[in-house]
Amino acid sequence: MNALAATNRNFRLASRLLGLDSKLEKSLLIPFREIKVECTIPKDDGTLASYVGFRVQHDNARGPMKGGIRYHPEVDPDEVNALAQLMTWKTAVADIPYGGAKGGIGCNPRDLSKSELERLTRVFTQKIHDLIGIHTDVPAPDMGTNAQTMAWILDEYSKFHGHSPAVVTGKPIDLGGSLGREAATGRGVVYATEALLAEYGKSIKGMTFVIQGFGNVGSWASRLIHEKGGKVIAVSDITGAVKNPNGIDISELLKHKEATGSLKSFSDGDSMDPNELLVHECDVLIPCALGGVLNRENAADVKAKFIIEAANHPTDPEADEVLSKKGVIILPDIYANAGGVTVSYFEWVQNIQGFMWDEERVNMELKKYMTQAFHNIKNMCQTHDCSLRMGAFTLGVNRVARATILRGWEA
Ligand code: GLU
Repeated sequence: MNALAATNRNFRLASRLLGLDSKLEKSLLIPFREIKVECTIPKDDGTLASYVGFRVQHDNARGPMKGGIRYHPEVDPDEVNALAQLMTWKTAVADIPYGGAKGGIGCNPRDLSKSELERLTRVFTQKIHDLIGIHTDVPAPDMGTNAQTMAWILDEYSKFHGHSPAVVTGKPIDLGGSLGREAATGRGVVYATEALLAEYGKSIKGMTFVIQGFGNVGSWASRLIHEKGGKVIAVSDITGAVKNPNGIDISELLKHKEATGSLKSFSDGDSMDPNELLVHECDVLIPCALGGVLNRENAADVKAKFIIEAANHPTDPEADEVLSKKGVIILPDIYANAGGVTVSYFEWVQNIQGFMWDEERVNMELKKYMTQAFHNIKNMCQTHDCSLRMGAFTLGVNRVARATILRGWEA
């Protein structure tokens, strides 16, 4: 099942639990606007290259649409649609005043030089600048993009509309970015994990963790778990995987990756097959990379007791069913990775206020939002006698449905 079919399925299950009117259900599912643009740039060698860029604006009932821009070879319209829809439910679960959107360009950023990436980002911004804005649609980083990408978008957008720092979030601090935004998704994952484990009378200290993905989210989550006394026993990224049953020293691994660009030949651990990582014995498994990594091929072999979905849609519906039957507790993506967009909201608020918060305040507010959202999900689970995934979906979908009805929906 592809990402869009899986996301639609979860939405429909939630909609049935909530008893939504079928016309409203259909309206909530259809995106507000889908944009597809061709971006042609001169490569460094003088030849021309074309890339297809997308921005899907899914829903704006609760506020400006919000979501990242992904640079990845597998970006396709269905995936961007699914991710845009997930953003709508995610912002509603986090209870921040946004709708949902997502963008992407089908390219491999590793194959492009910095100046090629800059040209591509500027051309993409030229094509969509009329359709994004502080109160309409606010992009942010996602896989393959970062603060520098946001700086180029801001600069290009400002040529058309004047200096508007709040048009993107996840910016460099020097251009109005928020303290704590870089770490926010990983930190939010850790707050979410703490909230979940507390329900079972457990804490991060002493538990074993396996983390798939060592980019922004995975490396921050690993670092913070390590600092809190959790044992990160295996980590992977696209360069390889490393394990150490006594716990990997994450600060050393970060230094190693910084120096060599790879997880390979790390002296404080043994290399392992990255495919084995997801089924490695551990208490908590945290997928922080691509979607669909837990599927019918490997779900039955997963040994973790808890799965924290730091990636978007890492568990496909078939795996979801198998894992639930095995009693594995899954903390769903639209809650577990909401820390990034929550601090994006704080960044946007600071830009509009023209007042910068200190990092302590950012982290404190993030913890408050993540903890509150967990309790709201648990309440939905009790009301509807459902999984955490359905608890999160019913919470998000219900908030968006209520906003839509209040704006003047007539069945
Ligand atoms: N790309 C991140 C996500 O998927 C952050 C989006 C944002 O900050 O707007 O949630």
